[in-house]
Amino acid sequence: MIPDYPLTSDCLDNNQENRPDKPEEACGVFGIYAPNQDVAKLTYFGLYALQHRGQESAGIATFEGETVHLHKDMGLVSQVFNETILQELPGTIAVGHTRYSTTGSSRKANAQPAVVETRLGKVALAHNGNLVNTVQLREELVRDNINLVTTTDSEMIAYAMAQEVNAGFDWMQGAIKAFHRCQGAYSLVIGTPVGIMGVRDPNGIRPLVIGTIGENPMRYVLSSETCGLDIIGAEYLRDVEPGEMVWITEAGLASYHWSQQPRKKLCIFEMIYFARPDSIMHNESLYSYRMRLGRRLADESPVDADIVIGVPDSGIPAAIGFSQASGITYAEGLIKNRYVGRTFIQPTQAMRESGIRMKLNPLKDVLAGKRVIIIDDSIVRGTTSRKLVKALRDAGATEVHMRISSPPVTHPCFYGIDTDSQDQLIAARMSVEEIKKQLEVDSLAYLSWQGMLITTQEDTSNFCSACFTGDYPIAIPEQVKRAKLVLEQVTV
Ligand code: SF4
Repeated sequence: MIPDYPLTSDCLDNNQENRPDKPEEACGVFGIYAPNQDVAKLTYFGLYALQHRGQESAGIATFEGETVHLHKDMGLVSQVFNETILQELPGTIAVGHTRYSTTGSSRKANAQPAVVETRLGKVALAHNGNLVNTVQLREELVRDNINLVTTTDSEMIAYAMAQEVNAGFDWMQGAIKAFHRCQGAYSLVIGTPVGIMGVRDPNGIRPLVIGTIGENPMRYVLSSETCGLDIIGAEYLRDVEPGEMVWITEAGLASYHWSQQPRKKLCIFEMIYFARPDSIMHNESLYSYRMRLGRRLADESPVDADIVIGVPDSGIPAAIGFSQASGITYAEGLIKNRYVGRTFIQPTQAMRESGIRMKLNPLKDVLAGKRVIIIDDSIVRGTTSRKLVKALRDAGATEVHMRISSPPVTHPCFYGIDTDSQDQLIAARMSVEEIKKQLEVDSLAYLSWQGMLITTQEDTSNFCSACFTGDYPIAIPEQVKRAKLVLEQVTV
């Protein structure tokens, strides 16, 4: 039985067949306060840069004084918007959202931003992350006769804020009261008629950065990642801190540290895989970090071979690092079809059997007769990896050695990433030796947990790495754990 309450905003995927064997990001958020600018178009391009964080749906809400203009739909940013639609979104403030792609039923109603009415005007909210107290919050809202129209926790946050504002608090106070009712991971961009907010939860699990645009210091941008700033020519100012709310109005940018117990617990998977390699986190490009992961991996788990290849795109920087550290030649052994988007059309049985060649095609000239080291950033279920290894052998590789630039994923994520339930995770069910046999590789090694964290050059306690350890920085209610398991069982 599927639970009758929303487990998460975004982590439900009803079709295992079409699922990539990778953790999947939940959302990208973007916002801009820029009088006399085409805020809708700037937001469009910001979302375009954040497309990797979610491909199910996209939406933009703009504020023209009290009036909210909203357009959201299923599909990629480039499919949802065109010039005509963007021209119908005037204003000085914009909030944008891209949502993680579920492959099951179309759920346009769950697209964001969520727009809710308050006594002070409308609020438009875009959310990246997942609450873990959705059951309790939903019960509170339903008890108060709030008519929730979607199954997202994001709408609940918007209504919680509306409740507080309607109780007499101003925008800022009302928002902070609402955040104290929310537990879990949330990076938020919230538009109002008078200003825009950027918020991170007290653990700062999902990223959010602030930028400025143009000569006028009153123009601010909020984005999940710095690549959303780069694309519109905005300058990176700083990160929104864990437990901080920035409130941007005509008076400028004000900062409120609303949580008594903030701590840094950025999702380490953002660094390893989710965020774009050209984004900056902790003052360095993620491309550099991922190369260092590869170097560390080569030091920890050397192997004799002829070439090193990476699984495009996310395994490439670590493969280059591995090559540099080991002295083994780096080569492109897999070509990615860059124009493949998410398809809702089921492949034929023959195509299914050809598996990963929908997206990746091995280069026989490069691989034939070679002992190959293949580097990937993670293994979740192992299904794609197995097909990949077979494809390399079919292309003539004489040995296939797999190296993974992160530790084994043994626990599910409840903070906005779809990593499957525990029983679906290959490393939760099998030892490394068993996985090696399952994938039919000549050798297999993962990066150590310490190696992954030390390579960040940050205080190693500044990250959430719960999917590798089970040490969750925010307690997960048993009800939520059970619900995730039930959902996976009914959808497999
Ligand atoms: S559990 Fe894993 S994927 Fe989820 S936030 Fe923590 S590190 Fe990231």
